[in-house]
Amino acid sequence: MLLQHQTWQEVEAYLARSNGIILPIGSTEQHGPNGLIGTDAICAEFVARGVGEAAGAMVGPTIGVGIAVHHMGFAGTMTVRPSTMIAIIHDYVLSLARHGFRRFFFINGHGGNIATVQAAFAEIYAAFEGAIGMRRNDELRCRLANWWDGRAMRDLAKEVIGDDEGSHATASEVALTQFAFPDTIKLVPLDPPRAPSGRFHGPADYRRRFPDGRIGSNPGLATPEKGQRFYETAIPELAKSYATFLGENE
Ligand SMILES: [Zn+2]
Repeated sequence: MLLQHQTWQEVEAYLARSNGIILPIGSTEQHGPNGLIGTDAICAEFVARGVGEAAGAMVGPTIGVGIAVHHMGFAGTMTVRPSTMIAIIHDYVLSLARHGFRRFFFINGHGGNIATVQAAFAEIYAAFEGAIGMRRNDELRCRLANWWDGRAMRDLAKEVIGDDEGSHATASEVALTQFAFPDTIKLVPLDPPRAPSGRFHGPADYRRRFPDGRIGSNPGLATPEKGQRFYETAIPELAKSYATFLGENE
C-alpha cells in the first residue's frame, strides 16, 4: 500500500486503524561492474513494498540518495551531507506526524546511512517531545531495520554465496536487484572474481585500492533466483519486526 497511490481520504481511513508507516531509505552510488548505481535504493524500496503488502502497512516515498561521500570517485554516485539527510528525515517524519502517524519503520539499504539515521531520530525526538519540544503527549517512535538483518538472512547468504559475499557490491544485493529488475542484468567479466578487502580513506583512496568499486565481494555469483530467495526470506522477517514495533508499549 503505497502512500503515493492513495487519496487523502484513504490515508485518513488508514489512520483510523493504524498509526504505522514504512519508509524506505537507500543510496545512489556505484556498485561495481555488474551492480546498478541505484542498488541500495532499489533494494530498500522493493523490500519495503513487499513488507507493506505482507503487513497491510502504508509505505511512504523512498529517500533515494544517502551518505556516499567515499563512493564519489566513481561516475554517477550522488551523496547528501549528514545534516541534509537529518533535515530530510526530520521533515518527512514530522509531516506525517501532523496527520497522526506515530510509528516510523525505516527499511534501510545502505550501511553508510545508519549513524546519520540514528542522529535524525534523536533530532526528531528533541523536536517532538524534548528540549525544543512541541510538548506532545502522544508518543512518537522511529525504528531502523536493514533489509539484510536477521539470522535467517545471514544463514541464507552463507548458504548461497558463502565466503564471497564481501562488504560492498555484494552478491546478495546485486541478486536482489536482478530479481526486481531482470531487464537490467549486466553480463560483464569480473576480474578478479572476488574483489580485494581492506580499509580506505575518502573517495580517491577508495578508487586506488578498489579500482572497480567492489570490496571483498564476488557479485558474479548473483542470480535472480538467489535474489528471489533473499526477498522471500527478508519479507516475513521484517513484517514480524514491524508488527512487534507497532505493538511495543514499554
Ligand atoms: Zn549497496
